[in-house]
Amino acid sequence: MRTMADSVRAESLNAAISAVRARITKSATASSMPEPRLVAVSKLKPASDIQALYDTGYRHFGENYVQEMVEKAEILPKDIAWHFIGSLQSNKCATLAAISNLFAVETLDSEKKAKRLNEARSQLPVLNVFIQVNTSQEESKSGISPEGALPLARYIVNSCPNLKLMGLMTIGSIARSRASSEGEHNQDFTTLVETRAAIEAALGVHGLELSMGMSSDFEDAISQGSTNVRVGSQIFGARPPKNSA
Ligand SMILES: *Cc1c(COP(=O)(O)O)cnc(C)c1O
Repeated sequence: MRTMADSVRAESLNAAISAVRARITKSATASSMPEPRLVAVSKLKPASDIQALYDTGYRHFGENYVQEMVEKAEILPKDIAWHFIGSLQSNKCATLAAISNLFAVETLDSEKKAKRLNEARSQLPVLNVFIQVNTSQEESKSGISPEGALPLARYIVNSCPNLKLMGLMTIGSIARSRASSEGEHNQDFTTLVETRAAIEAALGVHGLELSMGMSSDFEDAISQGSTNVRVGSQIFGARPPKNSA
């Protein structure tokens, strides 16, 4: 795999991420919220694209497929902060956790997977995790129910010394994302905010993050308190179908 992007591509990526950053700053300022971290979602995009953004100073990148992430992590700089945001399978937890510069797994949704990540991380720095909450309760989405998030959070905090509970994550329904762009609050984001409040109160922890907002709805997410937005197509352009990667 070549890791040098041509200069035209590098310039267009740089322009796109700068535009996203400007929109992030604008929404945070408008709603008096702190600026969230921007995770550039690079799934199905070449390592050369990541390297081009790395060269302009970006470090947080998100990937959805374990094998693709392993391959990219191997050839790209070791100070990239990788976020795993794909659907997590128990039998892939050990492979994933072995990536030394994995910054966070954002899609943790069961005790069994927490246990596996925790075991696999014993010789490496503590791994940040977000609990993925299925706020829209759609069958097609992974994630634990809002009611299930508290027991899972308790398990991570009490029984997983190699994991740090960093926050909660949601994808949310497309319909709600569209509805809120007409000026209403997005119910999925509201549910995530409420779930965090319940967990912080029950466990006596503070400062849990909220990973919410993608290309189509990151501005609404910021106005509702997102601390971590995950933006792919607005930076890298449309993605090829998965099987062509
Ligand atoms: C692909 C993906 C994103 C980025 O989606 P865009 O709409 O391209 O910004 C964000 N979060 C998750 C969980 C994803 O799978």
